[in-house]
Amino acid sequence: MTQNKKKEIIIIGAGLGGLSAAISLAVKGYPVCVFEKNDKVGGKLNVLEKDGFSFDLGPSILTLPHYFRRLWNRAGRRMEDDVTIETVTPHWRNFFEDGTVVDLHMDPSEMKKELSKLGDPDLERLFNKFLKYSAKQYDLIEQGYFEKGLDTKRDFISFYDWKDILKIDYWTTMHKRVKKRLKNPYLIDIMDYFIKYVGSSALRAPGFMNLMPTIQFRYDLWYVKGGMYNLALGMERLARSIGVDIRLNAEVIEIEKDENHILGIRLVDGSFHETDILVSNMEVIPAYEKLLKEEETFMHTLDPFEPACSGLVLHIGTNRPFPQLAHHNFFYAKDQEKHFRTVFEKGEIPEDPTLYVVAPSRTDPSVCPAGCDNIKILPHIPYLKKQGNPPPEAYQALRDRILQKMERTGLKGLKDSIIIEDMWTPVDIQKRYYSNGGSIYGVVSDRKKNFALKCPKKSAKYNNLFFTGGSVNPGGGMPMVVLCGQNVADAIHEEYADKAAAR
Ligand SMILES: Cc1cc2nc3c(=O)[nH]c(=O)nc-3n(C[C@H](O)[C@H](O)[C@H](O)COP(=O)(O)OP(=O)(O)OC[C@H]3O[C@@H](n4cnc5c(N)ncnc54)[C@H](O)[C@@H]3O)c2cc1C
Repeated sequence: MTQNKKKEIIIIGAGLGGLSAAISLAVKGYPVCVFEKNDKVGGKLNVLEKDGFSFDLGPSILTLPHYFRRLWNRAGRRMEDDVTIETVTPHWRNFFEDGTVVDLHMDPSEMKKELSKLGDPDLERLFNKFLKYSAKQYDLIEQGYFEKGLDTKRDFISFYDWKDILKIDYWTTMHKRVKKRLKNPYLIDIMDYFIKYVGSSALRAPGFMNLMPTIQFRYDLWYVKGGMYNLALGMERLARSIGVDIRLNAEVIEIEKDENHILGIRLVDGSFHETDILVSNMEVIPAYEKLLKEEETFMHTLDPFEPACSGLVLHIGTNRPFPQLAHHNFFYAKDQEKHFRTVFEKGEIPEDPTLYVVAPSRTDPSVCPAGCDNIKILPHIPYLKKQGNPPPEAYQALRDRILQKMERTGLKGLKDSIIIEDMWTPVDIQKRYYSNGGSIYGVVSDRKKNFALKCPKKSAKYNNLFFTGGSVNPGGGMPMVVLCGQNVADAIHEEYADKAAAR
């Protein structure tokens, strides 16, 4: 290879983190080839079409669209030319077992009306004050962690000045801060459950994770017209149009290396592909364990990066609509603290979990036949351990409890109305995407274990190995992995363009 020629880059995985890195690198002139084990791009952003129903298998809430727009802009294009997005109102409908129902709106006057249902005249003031605190945390974290791609505590200390460091709320947990500031039990459950965006526990996440409501209350909540999967298709179109080579049904089974340098990858068909730089969108721990076959001592250095939770994902098509539901709904556990402790501390399937329920036909009637309903139900449950996992019957029993809970909380007749059903357990999620223990958001955000940091973008062991996606900073969720792909491309370019210039 001549000195002036751009380094060749291989990416393992065409999830949104992989596609974002591929696009950002191709824009900078690097030849990029992506190898994806499945037969389509998008990773966990996936779709199931069945008998006239179209289910978004993974993500159903789009937030922070400016990080997607920025990706298109990097390529000199407009996101609107490939993907149409629209806002969803209300943001969430919240159902409690005592019959209380309250919506979240971005519009303050609508929000005021909703809060008045909770019987505390001071709640609007407390809520608005809480949103101001959330916005401050968001702005602080955005400056460095999001925008500069900080990876470690040391990066934080060198980027932020001391006054700002002290303002970052790592002093207590997310839940304790919510409880202290809001006091109302319904609102505490609701604001705590914003932690769902990273599959963690409000009892263990640091206070600054209370930045999450700002994601919705400042930037709104969005749907992708025609179904969420159109976002993956749009990114695929953009990538291919700027020369990214995407190979599907191409599983990587081994990474070949010498002591501290990656040589290339081997595919399941036996072929070897040399590379100058490797980016893994396969999660960090599975990549080190399965593809690099690292020893136990090295693997222990990754112990702080425990997986985020997994989920039981139930897709049901019903023969009648359930108008009680909004597009996004939450059915709260009677005791949400117990739910968090059972899933994240005991590692057991909860008896009565909080449920996230999506009924997208309110915004997009094309997702089911007329007169029917398309409903996805997602309780967070533990990721798979190396041993001692629940038997299949335990997931089936949870499915039954979920439907009973929804019937009890206002959706009478739901069970009898089901005409099609599809269920994913953590085993299916792990098998399809090779995520760590079937995790759905990458690495857990835990104040003590990792300070809510994920793995760094550059390998500590191999000088030309980088990572992108939910297990890497700034972490899980679609906008964050798309930002991660852009940040990793910038880090690569900074390192290699500087080296080339110095020659
Ligand atoms: C049920 C569910 C609901 C969710 N809800 C939301 C939501 O509402 N909003 C939101 O923002 N986020 C949500 N998420 C999270 C979001 O989907 C993820 O954070 C994000 O899509 C992860 O992207 P990624 O690129 O990190 O990983 P992935 O999407 O997992 O992509 C990794 C890719 O690498 C491929 N791969 C792995 N190993 C290999 C190998 N050895 N060889 C070749 N290819 C390989 C996989 O097949 C996969 O395509 C949800 C996730 C799930 C599962």
